Parts: sequence; C-alpha cells; structure tokens
Amino acid sequence: MAARLLLRTCPLRVLQLRGGTAARPLQRAMASAGGIPTDEEQATGLERRTLQALKQGKDPYSILKPKQYTGTKTDPHIVPSIGNKRLVGCLCEEDNTAIVWFWLHEGEPQRCPECGSHYKLVHHELPH
Ligand SMILES: [Zn+2]
Repeated sequence: MAARLLLRTCPLRVLQLRGGTAARPLQRAMASAGGIPTDEEQATGLERRTLQALKQGKDPYSILKPKQYTGTKTDPHIVPSIGNKRLVGCLCEEDNTAIVWFWLHEGEPQRCPECGSHYKLVHHELPH
C-alpha cells in the first residue's frame, strides 16, 4: 500500500530507485538541447544559402525591394544582367500606360529615348 502511494505521488523518485541509474522523465530532444531551433539553424539548401547571404548584406536572388535611383547621369538606374545586354522597359511617367522598351548595353550609362532617364547595366553573377 505504501509503494502504491509512493508511485502516485512521486513517479520520478520511483524510476530512480528501480533502474539504479539516473532515469529522467521523458523530455523532447529540442528542449534539452537549448530550445526550439531558429530558422537559420534548421534551414537547408537554397534557403540556407539565401539566409547566409542576407546576413552578409547580399541579395543574390533579388528577394528584397530594389534600391531607388534618381536616374540622373551621376546616379543611374542599375540594371543587373548575366549577359552584355538586357531589354529594359521604362515607365517614363507615373501615370503612363505605355512602356518604352529599349536595349541596354554594357558600358556607359544609356538614356531612355523618351524621358532621358539614365540606365546602367551591371554584370550580375548567379549564385549557382
Ligand atoms: Zn523613360
């Protein structure tokens, strides 16, 4: 009767007595290792590479909103490209419904034929 009462009131103590070794109550593995892992700790593959690049201030897959440029000769719109030219569409004014398309070539900044905004092609390496 006393043993049954002991089982009900203190099961941890009974486990230690029966096994002879330090038996521990059941716990989740994550709780014993220091808590729930963060996104960086459990990310793999492409997600892991992206998180590491973002930590270094890089944006290899263009996830973040692009930086705003004024479009002047000294601060042209930067257009990343894996080749030596790229087709660019300029929405010259905010209310325009027609897009002006033109080819942007590597080298000096080029102007939009309609509004005159400057665009510069910058070589962009793909991460893999
Ligand atoms: Zn334009």
